[in-house]
Amino acid sequence: MNSLTSSNLGYPRIGEKREWKKTLEAFWKGKITEASFEKVMKSYRLQYLNNQIERNLDYIPVGDFSLYDHVLDTAVMFGLVPDRFQYQGGKVPLSTYFAMARGTDNAHACEMTKWFDTNYHYIVPELKGLTPKLVENKPLQAFLEAKTELNVIGKPVILGPFTFLKLSKGFDQSEFADRLNQLASVYIQLLQELKEAGATFVQIDEPSLVTDISEEEMSLFTSVYHFITDQVPDLDIIVQTYFEAVTHYDAVVNLPVKGIGLDFVAGFETNFAAITKHGFPKDKILAAGIIDGRNIWKSNLEEKLTFIKELSTFVDVERLLIQPSSSLLHVPVSLTHETTLDRTLKNALAFSHEKLEEINMLKKAITVPSAEHLRAIQAHTQSFTELTNSNWRKKVERNPLATERAATFNERHKLQKKKWKLPLLPTTTIGSFPQTSEIRQARARWRRNELSNEAYDALIKAEIKKWIEIQEKIGLDVFVHGEFERNDMVEFFGEKLAGFAFSKNGWVQSYGSRCVKPPIIFGNVLFVEPMTVNETLYAQSLTEKPVKGMLTGPVTILNWSFVRDDIPKKEVAFQIAEALLKEVKLLESAGITMIQVDEPALREGLPLKKTQHNEYLTWAVEAFRMSTSQIDHSTQIHTHMCYCDFNDIIDSIRALDADVISIETSRSHAELISAFEHRQYDKGIGLGVYDIHSPRIPKEEEMVTIIQRALTVLPPSLFWVNPDCGLKTRTEQETVAALSNMVQSAKKARTMV
Ligand code: GLN
Ligand code: ZN
Repeated sequence: MNSLTSSNLGYPRIGEKREWKKTLEAFWKGKITEASFEKVMKSYRLQYLNNQIERNLDYIPVGDFSLYDHVLDTAVMFGLVPDRFQYQGGKVPLSTYFAMARGTDNAHACEMTKWFDTNYHYIVPELKGLTPKLVENKPLQAFLEAKTELNVIGKPVILGPFTFLKLSKGFDQSEFADRLNQLASVYIQLLQELKEAGATFVQIDEPSLVTDISEEEMSLFTSVYHFITDQVPDLDIIVQTYFEAVTHYDAVVNLPVKGIGLDFVAGFETNFAAITKHGFPKDKILAAGIIDGRNIWKSNLEEKLTFIKELSTFVDVERLLIQPSSSLLHVPVSLTHETTLDRTLKNALAFSHEKLEEINMLKKAITVPSAEHLRAIQAHTQSFTELTNSNWRKKVERNPLATERAATFNERHKLQKKKWKLPLLPTTTIGSFPQTSEIRQARARWRRNELSNEAYDALIKAEIKKWIEIQEKIGLDVFVHGEFERNDMVEFFGEKLAGFAFSKNGWVQSYGSRCVKPPIIFGNVLFVEPMTVNETLYAQSLTEKPVKGMLTGPVTILNWSFVRDDIPKKEVAFQIAEALLKEVKLLESAGITMIQVDEPALREGLPLKKTQHNEYLTWAVEAFRMSTSQIDHSTQIHTHMCYCDFNDIIDSIRALDADVISIETSRSHAELISAFEHRQYDKGIGLGVYDIHSPRIPKEEEMVTIIQRALTVLPPSLFWVNPDCGLKTRTEQETVAALSNMVQSAKKARTMV
């Protein structure tokens, strides 16, 4: 066998030490000029290319780099700038680009939403009243830069017209086909320019092909690609899919393009079954995503090698490209700086650079199957299986846990009402209060052992005390301790549970310059010690009012972590649930019997394909219930979710069987209320009455109106009054003012029911 080709789909933007983020933020703060900003960004871009060249890739992506987001890049290069940004035509200025992403005093930012099922957020293009026009050929610039500066013929990466349109808003679905054709003409120009500049291979990303698109949509897709490739006949286009198996395999592999990119990690079973059943066209290239672009584990290269050999029975090796399953945007850059991780664990990890090295190793083992190359593959696999075989992952028998509370909601409601004697429309908050920089700095010092446990503890307690007094003064009905001891709602619990590890530099881009560092769930998750009992009990000791316990739910902890992949996600969720149940019971026996278990990420875990929703929701709900069922009837379970489209999951929300749910709604109140109206939500519910994302202080009357509107569909006996979400990003002054108005609005509303 020989001449297998290696490729990459996209490289992380943030830099090994988040230098990209720092430069971006320095520029926004006006600390560097536009010229030096452009210069530094160019140096990163070239560095990133060099990092890939060093790893011997045959096809290196260009044009995947971005100053914010690749969907925004695409909109901007087509001049698709909403009117409110007063764009004058021509190349879109950098200031307008960032204004669209971040908003200005005069124009609100474009909406941001999740990129498929990842935690990356893109800027939603707004097409209302706009016609696409190629005002700047960004992939061409990237291509030429790589060619001139590094003598590399890069593989331009372009977001495809179909997916771009699917992700856009501001038009009626009946216009979809016309809009797509309009876009296609612009793509033709873009591709022609690339071809003239000497590009050979071009990767057009069409991840929408893995979603539930209809047959009609698929044939529309096909005809548009006919239109494009007829005009640019001798450019080798790869239509690239990822994150799942394609929905219409036959149609996709028969598209009139040179190559098809399929995901053989996330979409492994379905894609592989399809290729086995239908074969693969003899004249096409298969770009096979075989190294996981979404998770951080090393690959079992022996298995991968076998898989490549299997694939080669359908596609000649000469026509096979091996690559990560998706862009590496979703994993950290390099393991080099991880100096404190356990050796066995570190040996089992692969960030972007290590993944590219894996591809290189596989390529070598196929093209030159020497003993040396094969040994390297074996050694690699062995160092990985050290973790798989370790005690940390020894199979544990989970105890069977109740997933149903012993009393119905109505029975519980009666008992709970008697226990707390809360006023009608009780007021509360979602958990966190403002985190001062003083607290953050103290935590950093404490972590560096520069501050003793006692001193740190005393600081946290002082803050709790202060906010109990504030809550007393404001007159809230149910208090919280304020979450001052938490850096992040998942990391905090991960650090206290067994089975979690934390990298030093494992950052990934979440949106714009914002990065997250997900915890790594590497082994069995187990309860080790009480996590929240001290702070909660301390808070409770200072007041007669009930203090809500505050935990992060199993599904959210799972969805915001990098998760081991040797057992089903559901098993990991159940392990977390079991550990959380222990905490719930500890709180309960210490007298904290109102406990909130937050699940803001419940919806985020929804699979891309609707047919898989049920399965996910079933175990997600089960995990939540495991952590909250084996308790006394009179213990009141609260849960909280951030804004999301609830319509399609409302049955699952009800199935959580929480006594009270608080939901972020202020941005779409009417919509949400109608969702609840139609399904008649019949448990305790707090619809957020003001938006915590804005520094604006909501007026009492506004909130009275919101409460009254909600009460037209929800019974007052079940209704709670609370803000949209936690308050940790607000100032003390804003928080006190807003909550005082909120309490007044509840009092007023009580007199009106
Ligand atoms: N209890 C958390 C807080 O108040 C909830 C945060 C969230 O929903 N994202 O901060
Ligand atoms: Zn929230």
